[in-house]
Amino acid sequence: MSPPLWRAALPFPCAAIATLPLPLPLSRSRMDSILAANSRSAPRMVTTSGVGGGEGPECTRPAVSPEEWREWGSLSMKVPSMVAEIVEDLRVLEKSMDSPLCFGGIGGKLQGEFRVMEDRKHRAKYEALGDSEKKLQYFAARQVACRLLGSRNYLCQKCWLAMEDCMCSKITPCPLWQGMRFWLYMHPKDFLRQNNTGKLLWQVFGVNSATLCLFGVAEDEDVMWEAFRLAGRRRVWCLYPSKDSVGTSVQETFDPKQYIFQQKDTSMQDVEDGPLNFILIDGTWSNSAAMFRRLKEQAKSVWEGDDLLSISLSTGASAMHKLRPQPSWDRTCTAAAAVGLLSEMHHLPEFSSYNLDKNAEAVEDSLRVLLEALTNRRLRMGRSITRKARHRRDIC
Ligand SMILES: [Zn+2]
Repeated sequence: MSPPLWRAALPFPCAAIATLPLPLPLSRSRMDSILAANSRSAPRMVTTSGVGGGEGPECTRPAVSPEEWREWGSLSMKVPSMVAEIVEDLRVLEKSMDSPLCFGGIGGKLQGEFRVMEDRKHRAKYEALGDSEKKLQYFAARQVACRLLGSRNYLCQKCWLAMEDCMCSKITPCPLWQGMRFWLYMHPKDFLRQNNTGKLLWQVFGVNSATLCLFGVAEDEDVMWEAFRLAGRRRVWCLYPSKDSVGTSVQETFDPKQYIFQQKDTSMQDVEDGPLNFILIDGTWSNSAAMFRRLKEQAKSVWEGDDLLSISLSTGASAMHKLRPQPSWDRTCTAAAAVGLLSEMHHLPEFSSYNLDKNAEAVEDSLRVLLEALTNRRLRMGRSITRKARHRRDIC
């Protein structure tokens, strides 16, 4: 008997579609090529005040408004304070250089003299922060601020693809059962990545059912943990394999003998108790261990020493009706992991009436749309999709 594919596929944290197990005639190297093509971009000039120069009324506007922040996928009502502070620093830098900022190249980083100046300033500030928590927050905020400014007027705010590749019109929303909520715990380096797949979940389900929480951004983490505190420890799971005995299969987790959920009569009552919360770690493989560790530490402080519960996928490819993971791919992407969870839950009697299979199908469809958009971009740019790719996962 072959090992269960989903068990083998986990740990999944790889936000890139490069590892997406889709039934498309694409080899791994072709997928990597698509990824590489979407990691690089031509240099582009942006101002911290939006389009145009640094003169006039724009200069008095906040560099990033709360509305703009929310448009990128956040649920929060205000721009995280440290992100706003770093954007402000960049505005000062832009003024002192008397020229718009220049972003581009691999990962859309700051370019030229700006990069040298900003890097010097960043290092000095980072070193001055004694506390490791503050350092993490500063690191996260800097990534987010740079990615945000560099993507402005270049990426579609909804689908995070270059505007000419916008796929929004091809995504079909499909409301998620109210008794369930996803949290995309995303590494800042995956924020606004064109090949990120976690974004698909809120495109399909909406931001209230699939909520972005950026790793190291205090405001985001506070909102998420407040929701978990209210939900209670037994209604929060991290979809990540755990070496200890905390991680259990979906079936075991919702075993009628263990779990009180199915003793309730109506879905309304379940919803009144608050949704079941599932954390999906949305980052590269190399970053995911630190992200999981942080979640566990925060759980212990919120629940007075009690562990965060983990849930593991165990179904094989047969449950993934349309998706056929290729054995050579040892990781899967964030959105596909959500599809796996929805599919497994749908097969349990207590969840079978919530249309979770339809939700899974909608996410699968959105994955196909994303892959098609990235492939078309690659072809349009005149790059072969068979060219051997360089690995670009850990770029800024
Ligand atoms: Zn779009």
